[in-house]
Amino acid sequence: MSWDVIVVGGGIAGLAAARELQQAGRSVLVLESSPRVGGKLRRERVAGHLVDVGAEAMLNRRPEGVDLAAAVGLEVEHPALARSRVWTRGALRPLPRSLMGVPQDVEALRESGILTAEELAQVLAEPSLPPYELPESGDVTVGEMVDARFGAAVTDRLVEPLLGGVYAGHAREISARVAAPQLLRLAAQGSLLEAGRASADTTASTYQAPVFAGVPGGMGLLPERLAEQLTVRTDATVRGLERHPDGAGWRVLVGPTTDATWLEAGAVVLATPTAPAARLLADVAPAAAARLAAMEAASVAVVTFAFRTEDVAALDAMGSSGFLVPPVDGRSIKASTWSFAKWDWVRRAGAADGLAFLRTSLGRHREEAVLQRPDADLVALSLEDLRAAVGTALAPDVEPVDTHVQRWGAGLPQYGLGHTEAVAEVRVDVAGQPGLAVCGAAYDGVGIPAVIGSAQRAAREVLATVPVTV
Ligand SMILES: Cc1cc2nc3c(=O)[nH]c(=O)nc-3n(C[C@H](O)[C@H](O)[C@H](O)COP(=O)(O)OP(=O)(O)OC[C@H]3O[C@@H](n4cnc5c(N)ncnc54)[C@H](O)[C@@H]3O)c2cc1C
Repeated sequence: MSWDVIVVGGGIAGLAAARELQQAGRSVLVLESSPRVGGKLRRERVAGHLVDVGAEAMLNRRPEGVDLAAAVGLEVEHPALARSRVWTRGALRPLPRSLMGVPQDVEALRESGILTAEELAQVLAEPSLPPYELPESGDVTVGEMVDARFGAAVTDRLVEPLLGGVYAGHAREISARVAAPQLLRLAAQGSLLEAGRASADTTASTYQAPVFAGVPGGMGLLPERLAEQLTVRTDATVRGLERHPDGAGWRVLVGPTTDATWLEAGAVVLATPTAPAARLLADVAPAAAARLAAMEAASVAVVTFAFRTEDVAALDAMGSSGFLVPPVDGRSIKASTWSFAKWDWVRRAGAADGLAFLRTSLGRHREEAVLQRPDADLVALSLEDLRAAVGTALAPDVEPVDTHVQRWGAGLPQYGLGHTEAVAEVRVDVAGQPGLAVCGAAYDGVGIPAVIGSAQRAAREVLATVPVTV
């Protein structure tokens, strides 16, 4: 059978693209190399309960994620208003209100003790600086821009942990144009600190939609639900892509190396991470393939713990949803999310069995040595850091009931300087091949709504070039 469209990759990008195409009346087959759909949206059993071991939230202030969840009948839930903290300078400190780590509340920053008096003085001097001028290249890293306005300590202790949470990357390597366009725009107009104060006044007087949303039962439910309404083949690795010999449409080679078969389609959407996309495009769009092959990605690991509820009662009493760790503090973990406190559904799920779930994450771009250690070490390092961070709130003899280690090799693409241009070149080269499109975390942002947005764009590109054939 020939399909209108074959989608390669059954992560959220591939499934969202497939849904869009199917709704436009096309016949669609999704080919996923692993035994199940979802990619980085994945649930695993920990102490008998299904919890997210990859992405656990999505932006609520962009429509694509929450709309897609609603379209497949999933409710969303917003995280508890519990404060996040920063573990720095030997203590857990409240994270002051900020825009991507750039302080918006100087009093709260002072009280937090995150900065020394001297570092704080530099922050206070920011309004006297002239508006920020972009270098001629048209882009700058987030860290360099923040260094120039507030001093290195703000980058090191506030921006790094926040960006680390999203990209597992380094503030002084990530493009401000991509990761912090709002900061760039405000800095070009004048003081970021004063803009922050002004926005505090506005937000205090207007209703603001919650920033994040999750799905009761786990973000991993979203791809599972999507797949139910699609034709998906799992354990189906795509190994080759070529134009159909008669010039109309495409052929993909799928299956084990010893027994692969060719499938035909009018169009193909590549929704895999960059490395497989580069391999598949090597012959048909070599310039795009070269660009994709050169993009870097960070590997990370998520360690999930199930504790007895009574053992973490003191953590619960802290009224926090977890903490971030600046790299400059030299710890093993980069964050800990107290899922039982952050998500009501997680608290409810564990409550019946007296369990509370929390997780830690490890690994940053090019700092992956820690991930070469065995699972048991990642658990032990996480526990050691947790105990050091919370002190007596986690008694020394407390042990988890169960743990789970999920590794995400090359899991987060890095948006360095020049990324926007590289993506534009990929798209131009791919657009030269009618009936071919790309989408996923490497193009328009790593967050779930941005990834879905890239999938919808790929679907539109394919629809514009490929008529309905069945
Ligand atoms: C630990 C972690 C936590 C995160 N947390 C959040 C969060 O809380 N909120 C948020 O918004 N974002 C988060 N993200 C980012 C977000 O989850 C991802 O950017 C997004 O899910 C990527 O979706 P994707 O479909 O582009 O890629 P993937 O999820 O990687 O899916 C690609 C799929 O393609 C398949 N594939 C690869 N090669 C082939 C082939 N040759 N043939 C067939 N199939 C193939 C893979 O098996 C995979 O299933 C997180 C990411 C990680 C790693």
